[in-house]
This record gives sequence, C-alpha cells and structure tokens, in this order.
Amino acid sequence: MIKKRTRECQPCTACCDGWVSMTIGEAEVFPGQACPHSTGKGCNDYANRPIDPCDQFNCAWIQENSVLPDWMKPNNAKAIVMLNKLQWHGHPVDLAVPVGKRIPPRTLNWLKDFAQQHARLLIYTEQIIKQGKFQKDQTVIAFGPPEFQQDIDQSQRAGIDLWQ
Ligand code: SF4
Ligand code: SF4
Repeated sequence: MIKKRTRECQPCTACCDGWVSMTIGEAEVFPGQACPHSTGKGCNDYANRPIDPCDQFNCAWIQENSVLPDWMKPNNAKAIVMLNKLQWHGHPVDLAVPVGKRIPPRTLNWLKDFAQQHARLLIYTEQIIKQGKFQKDQTVIAFGPPEFQQDIDQSQRAGIDLWQ
C-alpha cells in the first residue's frame, strides 16, 4: 500500500530525473536519463507509481520526522540524502548524491556539520562528465576518519559497488 506522507515530493523530481540510478518497469533511469513518467515538475502517473522503488525510496527528506530541514528538499538543496545507506565497522554511513554535477557548498557544509555533530560517517558523490554527457559511474568521496576515507578509496579503486 502506498503511504501518505507529511511532506510532498512535488514539485521535486530529483530521484525521478536520474540522479539516482534505478529501474522503473522496463526503463533504466540514471544521470542524463530520466524516468519516462517524470514531467520535470512531477510524475504523470503518481497515483500508480510502483511501490518499489518509487514509494520505498530511501530519501531522507521525505521520511516522517525527517532530520533534514525544509530547505534541504532535494530540488532546492541539489542533493538527495539517504541515511544509513551502508555500515562501516558497525557505524552508520549516510550517502548524498548531487542533483547536478556537484553538491553545492551550503548543502555539503550542512551534511558535514550533521555528520560531525551526530558522530556519523558520510560519503558523497560527484558526477563524471565525458564529452558533455553524465556517466553512470560517479566519484565517491568519504568524510570521516582517515581509516574510513582510505577504506572507501580502496573500495572505489577496486571497483567494489559500495551500496548496491
Ligand atoms: S528526491 Fe525525495 S523529495 Fe524529491 S522526488 Fe525523490 S523522494 Fe521525493
Ligand atoms: S514512476 Fe513517477 S515517481 Fe516513479 S520514478 Fe517515474 S516519475 Fe518518479
């Protein structure tokens, strides 16, 4: 059953527009390739959107009692935040992906402050652009203790998919 929420997605379509890679029915959605149902201001089939991934998508802003302030709505903050995306030695790691090429400084500073204040770990990504096109892969950057940063760097160099 599709959940009712206090916050509303629309007019945000950040996850629908490919900033998070996913599959909607037969359609592959990734940076540069939006869901065919995205109008850029909403979903043209919102009432019938799939529960998985659309309604179950782990967007921290839309969750009930979200820790993210209103201004961190992804279409405004230009980042999609997913809390507890993975674990590192038993510690929760949050993930932020840009809506656009990079996460803007105001948003990134907020995320880093939040991680420090709550003793959490953060990884965030930057888009890779080749010949004017966004690539499916992204550069992953770790924010936290040096050992955490080294582990994430090594995993990335080894081609390990960190959160699928
Ligand atoms: S990124 Fe979050 S707020 Fe924006 S459309 Fe997706 S779930 Fe809704
Ligand atoms: S079906 Fe609708 S809610 Fe789901 S990704 Fe596509 S545009 Fe977004």
